[in-house]
Amino acid sequence: MSKLRQPTFTLTTGPVNCYPEVLQGLARPVLYDYDPVFQETYERVSRKLCKVMATDEPPLILQGEPVLGLEAAAASAVSGEDTVLNLVSGVYGEGYGFWLQRYCKELMEIRVPFNEAIDPASVEKALAERPDIKVVAVCHHDTPSGTINPVREIGEIVAKSGAIFIVDAVSSFGGMDVLPNDIKADIFVTGPNKCLGCPPGLSLLSVSDAAWKKIETNPTAPSASILSLSDWKTAHKATDPFPFTPSVAEINGLEAAVDRYLEEGAQTVWARHALTARACRAGVTAMGLSLWAASEDIASPTATSVTLPQGVSDAALRGKMRETFGVMISSGRGETHDKLVRIGHMGPTAEPLYAIVALTALGGAVSELTGKAYDVGAGVTAAMEVIAAAS
Ligand SMILES: *Cc1c(COP(=O)(O)O)cnc(C)c1O
Repeated sequence: MSKLRQPTFTLTTGPVNCYPEVLQGLARPVLYDYDPVFQETYERVSRKLCKVMATDEPPLILQGEPVLGLEAAAASAVSGEDTVLNLVSGVYGEGYGFWLQRYCKELMEIRVPFNEAIDPASVEKALAERPDIKVVAVCHHDTPSGTINPVREIGEIVAKSGAIFIVDAVSSFGGMDVLPNDIKADIFVTGPNKCLGCPPGLSLLSVSDAAWKKIETNPTAPSASILSLSDWKTAHKATDPFPFTPSVAEINGLEAAVDRYLEEGAQTVWARHALTARACRAGVTAMGLSLWAASEDIASPTATSVTLPQGVSDAALRGKMRETFGVMISSGRGETHDKLVRIGHMGPTAEPLYAIVALTALGGAVSELTGKAYDVGAGVTAAMEVIAAAS
C-alpha cells in the first residue's frame, strides 16, 4: 500500500475537483440508456447546453474526454484534398498539427514562441497568400502555457476567407467569455472537465452548418466509428437512437454542472475566474516571481503560469508544495516542461481565496528550495488588495 496521502488542495489545470452538485449528479441511479427517462434526460441536458453555449442547435456530446472531440473534428472535417493552416502558440496547438497532418493534403503552420499569442494579422496574410486553405485550427487557451489567443479577431478573418474554423476551447469555455457563434467557430470543441467542474469523460462540440456541409461531403469522414461526428448528429432527440451507449453517469453529472452554471449566471462565473487569476498574478509578481506569459493581456483567467526560478526544478517545487503544504498544482508539458508551473483557476477552484492558498504554498516552497526569502507576505497582501478592490 502506498503511503502517499491525497493532497489537501488540488489547484491544477485539470482534471479539477468536481462541484459537490456534480458529485451528487454522478450518484444518481444509472438507468438503461433506452429507458424513456434517460432519453428525456439526454435531450433535456442537450437543450440546457444550448443556453450555456448560446447556440440554436444542441452540441454533440461525444463519450470520451475532449481529446476525442478534437481528433474527431480533424478526422471528420479534413479531407485528403485540403490545405490546412494550424496556429501554434503552445503544446496543444502543436499537437493538433499531428492529427491534421494525418487527414490533410498539406499542413501549413504559423508558430510563435510558447509565451506569446498568435497575431491575427499573420493569419490574414497567410489566408490572402493561400486562398486554397480550407481549414484553420487554433487552441484558444493553450493550457501548458496559460496563454490566450485572440480567437474573436481570428474568427472574423477566417470567416471572410470561407475556411472552416476549428477551435479548441477545452480549458477556457465556461470560465470566460468564449462562445461558438460569437467567435465564428465552425467546430468548437470543449468539455465539462475543466471550467464546468465535472470529471473527465465527455466532449462537447458545437458544429456550424458550414462545417456539417464540409463533413457530409468529405468522403473520408468517419461513420460507424468512435471518431464520427455525424453518428451523433441527431442523438440529442429522445426519439432517435444513440449510435453507442452514452456515459449515463457522466450525463447526469453534466446536467448538475449545467444547472449550477445557469443558476450562478455566466457573467458571475466568468468574473470569479478572472478575479482569482488577477489576484494570483498580482501575488506572484509581488513576491518576486515571474509570470510566464509575455504580457498580462494574454494571461489566462483560468490558469496562471509561473516561470521556474533559476535552479529550481519542476519536480522539486511541486513535490515540496504537495508534501509540505498539501497543495497539488500542474507542471508544464512538452516544451514548457521544467520551465514553468501552473496554478489552475477552474470551476470550484476559481475562488479568490484559493489564489492565496496557492501563493503561500508556492512562496513557501520556493523560499525553502532556494534559501532566498521570497516575500510571501507581500504576495498575499497584493492578492488581497486585488480581491478587496473588486468587492
Ligand atoms: C485539458 C485539455 C484538453 C483535453 O486533453 P487532455 O490532455 O487529455 O487533458 C484539450 N485541450 C486543451 C487546451 C486542454 O486544456
